[in-house]
Amino acid sequence: MFRKRSIRTAICGAAMLMLLSSCGGGGESSDTDSAPSGRDIFAMDTFMSLKAYGSNAGEALDKAEERISVLEGELSVTNENSDIWRIDHAGGNSVQVSEDTAIILRKAAEVSEDTEGALNICLYPVVSAWGFTTGEYRIPTKDELSELLKNTDYHGLSVEGSTVSLPEGYQIDTGALAKGYTSDEVIEIMRESGVDSAIVSLGGNVQALGTKPDGSLWKVAVRDPFSPDTDMCLVEVGEKAVITSGNYERYFTGEDGKNYWHIIDGDDGCPADNGAVSVTVIGDSGIEYDALSTALFVMGYPAACDYWRSRQDFDMVIVTDDQRIYYTEGIADVFSNISSMPAEVIPVA
Ligand code: ADP
Ligand code: MG
Repeated sequence: MFRKRSIRTAICGAAMLMLLSSCGGGGESSDTDSAPSGRDIFAMDTFMSLKAYGSNAGEALDKAEERISVLEGELSVTNENSDIWRIDHAGGNSVQVSEDTAIILRKAAEVSEDTEGALNICLYPVVSAWGFTTGEYRIPTKDELSELLKNTDYHGLSVEGSTVSLPEGYQIDTGALAKGYTSDEVIEIMRESGVDSAIVSLGGNVQALGTKPDGSLWKVAVRDPFSPDTDMCLVEVGEKAVITSGNYERYFTGEDGKNYWHIIDGDDGCPADNGAVSVTVIGDSGIEYDALSTALFVMGYPAACDYWRSRQDFDMVIVTDDQRIYYTEGIADVFSNISSMPAEVIPVA
């Protein structure tokens, strides 16, 4: 009934040039500083590719893989032992959660407040009604959506230390920021293991440690939302996260011929369609900017630019539905447009 897209394009929001060229079997080790060790993993419903340089790389990759598996166990919406599943099925009672889950939920509450609900992890019942959890896609009716939206006020989530509660009938999922937290953790593990040059891609989330072994910057490619198998632009970064939310990452085509994607606008319960088709955020925190890339996508264009003006502590590339690219001044020297779309700097005022 619905056309599903290929798994490759479904998981890629941004690509690492260095990684994609050499994604072989995971786990090869290296004893020189210039040859990387790599690991390819499928976890959190997405393909992950980790690459580290130097003699400690193999051990760091083992530890990172273990950590990803622990986080997946805590954060899965479908695994009955996860923190999130227990919160979602607690019937209004409070639940004790891991430190990871508490950190993620506190960050979600903070960014929800700051973006006035553009980020809202309490939208899970709506995300689920569209079939994004199971892959059994459908278009809910307006009545069904307005009924579901009654139980999605983000103020309902309470996190006190490691105790979490939700009103009865509410459900959360951390899909908007879990991968960002995970990439922060993976990069930290690499650092603690003595690796000083690494780059990881968790679906559309790229995060780097240090620089390339030769001291040059990493080149991260951002996909063209209108042609997701093609790169749109390159951004050169040092130790940063480059995180994309796009309408092409997970979607289905309805019987009406329209595309419906996985990022939901809490105002009407429908896929957010406010002028942006892709938002990439570049900054020094995976969790913060994963949360923000989703929120800015929901805000759309030009509202996301107004939000950026109010902070200016991160960089951004936004692609609009009329095929234009806007980017912040902070990356002007390291941004290359390789698409046929016009690109311009977002004015500060
Ligand atoms: P991806 O996971 O594809 O990288 P995002 O980081 O933008 O993309 O997160 C999208 C996921 O977040 C959805 O799959 C869904 O689980 C959840 N979600 C959808 N809409 C919202 C929203 N407005 N606020 C918070 N979470 C959302
Ligand atoms: Mg996100």
